[in-house]
Amino acid sequence: MKKMNIVLFGPPGAGKGTQSKFLMERYGLEHLSTGDLLRAEIHAETPLGLQAQELMSAGELVPDDVVVGMIRNRLQDNPKSKGFIFDGFPRTRAQAEALDATLVKLGSGITVMLALEVEEEELVKRLLGRGATSGRPDDKSEEVVRKRIREYENKTAPLKEYYEGQGKLRRINGMGSIADITARLMKAIDG
Ligand code: AMP
Repeated sequence: MKKMNIVLFGPPGAGKGTQSKFLMERYGLEHLSTGDLLRAEIHAETPLGLQAQELMSAGELVPDDVVVGMIRNRLQDNPKSKGFIFDGFPRTRAQAEALDATLVKLGSGITVMLALEVEEEELVKRLLGRGATSGRPDDKSEEVVRKRIREYENKTAPLKEYYEGQGKLRRINGMGSIADITARLMKAIDG
């Protein structure tokens, strides 16, 4: 059977992590979040984690080769999976091109990009709310939260055009209840 590879896209606070869990269960996919992988490296105090930590706490992107290397390893280690949900990756044009090249080598490709769209003030509210309980230092300061949103707009949002050019972009309204947003995502995948 053909693999299903989904890029779950959107700004920080769009609900990518939350929605990934529902999509994983429904479609039997593996979840790959570069943010989670980087936080695990920080927790384990690896050299890579130490390198990433400063950039992450400033709300800046870590270098492309770091995240591309992590994703490549995961893809190669899971050849039997039904497919992947990419959450928080790719975030730059170079990452998107590297992902396409890796998937082509594995005889596969991106099926669809689901781009969650949420108003900026709602994102700030959600992230600062999450910061109160998540223990994520980058969710605690409004300055860092806004910096992450700027990084998204400058470096990441243009990827919508990259996937649109491949006919793979689906824009999803990311405002409203979690259940409504899940339903919109599943409709886009099934349709
Ligand atoms: P996230 O958990 O996706 O919000 O990511 C948290 C932080 O990890 C980001 O603000 C970046 O500093 C870093 N990060 C995660 N994924 C990437 C990526 N694909 N490219 C560059 N930096 C990333």
